[in-house]
Amino acid sequence: MKSIDALCPNCGLCCDSTLFADVELRAGDDAKRLKRLGLTLHQKTKTKLAFSQPCACFDGKLCRIYAERPKRCGLFECGLLKRVEVGEMSAHAALKKITSAKNQAEQARGLLRSLGQRDERMALTHRYAGVMASPMDFSKPEEMELRGELMLAVNDLMTQLQRDFLR
Ligand code: SF4
Ligand code: SF4
Repeated sequence: MKSIDALCPNCGLCCDSTLFADVELRAGDDAKRLKRLGLTLHQKTKTKLAFSQPCACFDGKLCRIYAERPKRCGLFECGLLKRVEVGEMSAHAALKKITSAKNQAEQARGLLRSLGQRDERMALTHRYAGVMASPMDFSKPEEMELRGELMLAVNDLMTQLQRDFLR
């Protein structure tokens, strides 16, 4: 079995907003076609179009437009995938790291929901930034405790993502 088939259907972290808040289109991408396929594009800078994550074309397991996905998606390989491909890591070990990162991301999402941030269409990092930027109510110790747990959960998640997926 190819590494990509062993890992990606069990992961999705590069499509569900855990790793990226958005994805920029590249030269050669057909923006009109991608829109028709279901991606919602926005003007990120004067010259760059992007689509936000969680990606509208991610079905929770796989990419619905795999054969026609944007160039950036086709080129991306996370660190785990690269290490499994060159034989530096077993698929079994990589799947354990995927499970750990997914559990950690789910813990962070659960805490965001507990703190009232329930918009699952927003990227995880944007949800986190929104919660942390809102004023603290010092009369609610429970909320302050949850914020502390959220900070630790997101910090742990970012450490795992940097270590295992982004290098
Ligand atoms: S983060 Fe890596 S293993 Fe996970 S879906 Fe993306 S490329 Fe595949
Ligand atoms: S277009 Fe496909 S590969 Fe790219 S982010 Fe969306 S679901 Fe993932």
